[in-house]
Amino acid sequence: MDRTFVMVKPDGVQRGLAGEIISRFEAKGLKLVGAKLELLPEERVVEQYREHLEKPFFPGLKAYIMSGPCFLMVWEGKGAVAVVRRMVGATNPAEAAPGSIRGDFALDIGRNVIHASDSPESAVRELGIHFEAEDLVGYSRIDEPVLYE
Ligand code: UDP
Ligand code: MG
Repeated sequence: MDRTFVMVKPDGVQRGLAGEIISRFEAKGLKLVGAKLELLPEERVVEQYREHLEKPFFPGLKAYIMSGPCFLMVWEGKGAVAVVRRMVGATNPAEAAPGSIRGDFALDIGRNVIHASDSPESAVRELGIHFEAEDLVGYSRIDEPVLYE
């Protein structure tokens, strides 16, 4: 099974969207295997977004991510990384499809509510930045026999 790292950003937490976002992934059939509410330290923000360090938007991005608590999660399921990215929608919420989280709940690229890993390699890397192995809980969801062929 695949695992992906997902984070409700401070605007999503402040706007009370964490529950709605969790509900969407739960209803899809994905399994929550780790979660925590945290004010992220600068080192972990820099590490998570290291590919964007030199971009003009990086200082604003860092300030945004550190502006309040984030809700960090790990979700597991068949094809979880790609499935979650599709549910999250395009980076710019103005272009994100209706029905996606960014398409339904955001307007501005700099306040796009949620982060999700963009590849299996990123998922492993990002998970490792934010969670220890013992923070993750392995278990079976009772509906797994009817969720999967
Ligand atoms: N971002 C921004 N301005 C931009 C591009 C990106 O503020 O022009 C922020 C936005 O919060 C985005 C994050 O930087 O989610 C990471 O950018 P990326 O291109 O990796 O988008 P994502 O993977 O989050 O869809
Ligand atoms: Mg990205």
